[in-house]
Amino acid sequence: MSQPRRHIFITGGASGIGRAVALHFAQRDWFVTVTDVNEAGLEDTLGLIGGGFKYSHRLDVRDRAAWDVALDAASTAAGGRIDAMFNNAGIGTGGALNELEVEEIDRCLDINLRGVLYGAQAVYPHLQKTAPGSALVNTASAAGITGGSGMSVYSATKFAVRGIAESLDAEWAPEGIKVSSICPSFIETPLLDGTGSRQSNEQIRDRVRQAGLEITPVEEVAATVWDAVHGDDLHYLVGKTARRLNFAKRWMPGRV
Ligand code: NAD
Repeated sequence: MSQPRRHIFITGGASGIGRAVALHFAQRDWFVTVTDVNEAGLEDTLGLIGGGFKYSHRLDVRDRAAWDVALDAASTAAGGRIDAMFNNAGIGTGGALNELEVEEIDRCLDINLRGVLYGAQAVYPHLQKTAPGSALVNTASAAGITGGSGMSVYSATKFAVRGIAESLDAEWAPEGIKVSSICPSFIETPLLDGTGSRQSNEQIRDRVRQAGLEITPVEEVAATVWDAVHGDDLHYLVGKTARRLNFAKRWMPGRV
């Protein structure tokens, strides 16, 4: 009997990293669900996937009840299973802390942190059904390993995402559900690492190049998410800049 087609549920699938991951998994014969608040972008992603097995659903990751609706609909569309979730939607918030409006701080915390927690909680029963071997991959950042000027809020959320991954890995590993984080640095997408709101992407690109750092193509992130779904590590660095942080693959020795 042939294996059932595996299914990945992706947030932030209308753009950048989420879209690249959708294409990568679709090309490898997975059923792909893309979700986002940007419905036109979701249509574009589905168009790029072409004739594969695919589904899209509007989802604002800040809405806990909407998570259940989207996950149930996607599971049904894929024949009753979700094997992996890429918890990826996020925004940048660049600027010195004292210059940020309270609304900017709250928006970043709500999407990058609350949204990741809601998603993990909501997808858990689905991943239980496909365990052992099901996986939750969360998008952290190199800014979740080291902070930097103008990064306090964004960096706080990405440190937290790595902490969530470590804790959930400990909680869920006994059931055979893998949890990990990916930590990209300066990826070629509309959002360049958390600095979006105060500078144009071109200014950021110039700064990155002047610092002797590199901007990594989005396909490298997609390949890393594939590795994270199939592999056993806790944190995956993406891009030369992140790797230069000399960050051990396992942040803490041993896993609880
Ligand atoms: P992007 O702007 O291309 O994509 C982000 C997507 O998230 C967009 O489609 C946007 O509509 C969606 N989104 C925003 N708010 C949402 C909400 N409330 N609910 C659902 N979807 C929402 O950016 P990207 O670079 O692809 O970013 C994806 C993830 O990668 C983010 O978590 C980001 O912090 C992280 N990241 C990016 C870089 C980089 O250099 N580009 C580096 C490290 C980490």
